[in-house]
Amino acid sequence: MNIRIHNLGKQYGAFPALDGVSLDVRSGELLALLGPSGSGKTTLLRAIAGLEHPERGQILFDGEDATGLSVQARRAGFVFQHYALFKHLDVRGNIAFGLEVRRGAERWSKARINAKVDELLALVQLDGLGARYPAQLSGGQRQRVALARALAIEPRVLLLDEPFGALDAQVRRDLRRWLRELHDRTGLTTVFVTHDQEEALELADRVAILNRGRIEQVGTPGEVYDQPASPFVYGFVGEANRLPARAQGQVLEVAGAQWPRAASVPEGQALEVFVRPEDLVVEAEGDWQATVGLVQRSGPRQRLRARLAGATSDLEVELPAGAPAYAAGQSIRLGARRYGVFPAAAG
Ligand code: ADP
Ligand code: MG
Repeated sequence: MNIRIHNLGKQYGAFPALDGVSLDVRSGELLALLGPSGSGKTTLLRAIAGLEHPERGQILFDGEDATGLSVQARRAGFVFQHYALFKHLDVRGNIAFGLEVRRGAERWSKARINAKVDELLALVQLDGLGARYPAQLSGGQRQRVALARALAIEPRVLLLDEPFGALDAQVRRDLRRWLRELHDRTGLTTVFVTHDQEEALELADRVAILNRGRIEQVGTPGEVYDQPASPFVYGFVGEANRLPARAQGQVLEVAGAQWPRAASVPEGQALEVFVRPEDLVVEAEGDWQATVGLVQRSGPRQRLRARLAGATSDLEVELPAGAPAYAAGQSIRLGARRYGVFPAAAG
């Protein structure tokens, strides 16, 4: 099922939690909603689920207006970070819950529910643990039960709100891979909320970046990393150095260096050039003279802080594996092999 979100708005008092959000989720894709805490991710996910009612905008499920539909009618499966399992039910009972509460013509037979639970236990790789209670499971196992419970109702879309947020790093990484494989097998349209850029880039087919209730960019992990659409995306997905710049005629002047100006770069206003640490290169013919400050080694990687002549702050430089070692105080020349140009932030 595809989801079309059009101009969604939700206020809490005077504060816009969602400020005109439009987004298409393609059928069968795994889309990550990525943004800092408070950017509106949970509000957006809850609006898709039908748990939150936006004041304006529309949500279409496969072209049909779902804005007024109940949670049940939307048939969305969800897993939240703190959406705890029922403590008094064993794993089988938890997974079957959404099926057991059905009444009338909707109700499945006991045998059919049992067969479905068996199938889901196998899918989330918890065969043999059906009789355990939540307290007897690890954090990662509990989230897999929560996922099986969400899948039991055969949802049209799966909504996951930081489902691995409370787990430690290694378990998170394992579950991330596992979820990706599960998604590839089920092909279920999935929206995955996270504030962790690494998680989003590794897991998702596409990433939507949310900031202050607005979508800043939607693209594949490669696109949002390689061609950030805004200063916010540059800083939030990966890291960026910022250099003062100004364009005049055919020239873009960047911290004293003169580059050709692209037609899209506005003239006569303060600009900022954004360069990722790994896109700064040490080379004899580099544009800028710089002095090496702190040198850091972490595994195969070498990182430098370097200060341009006349500048008051340092640049971060990430050197490729196998680069020569540098020492503090050394004089080098730096160039940029990829960059973005944006109007300078006011103030
Ligand atoms: P995220 O999930 O990205 O951390 P949320 O969607 O939870 O962000 O929240 C977005 C903004 O809306 C935040 O500033 C939050 O404080 C505010 N907010 C969320 N829920 C409520 C609520 N029930 N009442 C008042 N403000 C809320
Ligand atoms: Mg949240």
